[in-house]
Amino acid sequence: MTDKKQDHPLQKNSLQTRLLHEDRHPQDYQGFVNTPLFRGSTVLFPDAKTLLSNDQPYTYGRYGTPTTTALEQALALAEQAAGCLLTPSGMSAITTSLLAFVQKGDHILVADSVYYPTRNFCDQLQRSMGVETTYFDPLVGEKITDLFRDNSRLVFLEAPGSLSMDMSDIPLIAGLAHQRGMTVMCDNTWASPLLCQPLTLGVDISLQACTKYVTGHSDAMLGAILYNEKAGQQVRDWHRFAGNCPGSEEVFLGTRGLRTLAVRLKAHEQSALKIARWLESRPEVERVLYPALESDPGHSLWKRDFSGANGLFSIELKQGDSRKIHNMMDALTLFGMGWSWGGFESLVVPFNLHNTRSAVKHPDRTSLRLHIGLEDPDDLTADLERGLGKLA
Ligand SMILES: *Cc1c(COP(=O)(O)O)cnc(C)c1O
Repeated sequence: MTDKKQDHPLQKNSLQTRLLHEDRHPQDYQGFVNTPLFRGSTVLFPDAKTLLSNDQPYTYGRYGTPTTTALEQALALAEQAAGCLLTPSGMSAITTSLLAFVQKGDHILVADSVYYPTRNFCDQLQRSMGVETTYFDPLVGEKITDLFRDNSRLVFLEAPGSLSMDMSDIPLIAGLAHQRGMTVMCDNTWASPLLCQPLTLGVDISLQACTKYVTGHSDAMLGAILYNEKAGQQVRDWHRFAGNCPGSEEVFLGTRGLRTLAVRLKAHEQSALKIARWLESRPEVERVLYPALESDPGHSLWKRDFSGANGLFSIELKQGDSRKIHNMMDALTLFGMGWSWGGFESLVVPFNLHNTRSAVKHPDRTSLRLHIGLEDPDDLTADLERGLGKLA
């Protein structure tokens, strides 16, 4: 847990610089640059009085170590949050936050394009706790008020949405939900903590799958909950009661990844833009879904609310025949096939939204999601060209 920081002499620098220098205390660790990897359960107290009052910074491994504090402070700085809680996965950040704010009989509004396991969890909440969920078109805008009910408690956003990459108007929806006293959450994984700060757009809780770009090397599972002052107490209590502590090594890898995130993201963005524009010009491609492209319907919202893009986008092909598309995937040599994204390597997965969305109708066709990694973009283009040749 991190509390609001006082003024700091480094605050005049850009976030990219501040993330390398603030809240890092080499002199506490014999001058070594990084906060060491603390492993521990028991923390000793000097005397009975301190033990019973819990009056020292660390009290038990589950509640944090200097290793977790280092990452929590850095993430809270990046997202301009009142505080941060780490979790063992992105999903556990999402489920802990939802459970902290809903009760039996509540109604929640969830964007139709949320990460599919988030949707599964909301459906499970409905079955087990009677929490009703309405999925809404992410482009709903001010019409979201038509979906509000007396028992509506929470709006859950994700921008751009998973796979279909649709942009929602975050500040508009957050403002309308707050007029009704609702809590607003946003899955901010696509942006990472650097490209969008949902709390500055009116969101109460921003969620990160640090498994993706923060860790950045496909070698750890990790999540984070970033909260504002108002939402803090409730989500901190739930996090504590639920015992949601990530492993020390994963946290250490998260901090290590965060130090190079700004430069990695720039490289992902540059290559992805180059490849996305090339794909747009190809006869086999119907549409590239990537808000950083001028042609994307979400481009103006992205430009207004985000400071950059990453390497993740989707393509709709002229023909959605899954067999041919699988042939294309099999022909790729640099794009691995596997879930997740945000590592150094390029990835491809097929998807079909026909049966996984309810508020927006999607045709029954196969499309592809690409993660553009840190390889030379010309090599990736040549690989994709070979793959597209298999669609004929
Ligand atoms: C991957 C992902 C998650 C879940 O993160 P895990 O660490 O895999 O649990 C949540 N939201 C989005 C948008 C994701 O892409």
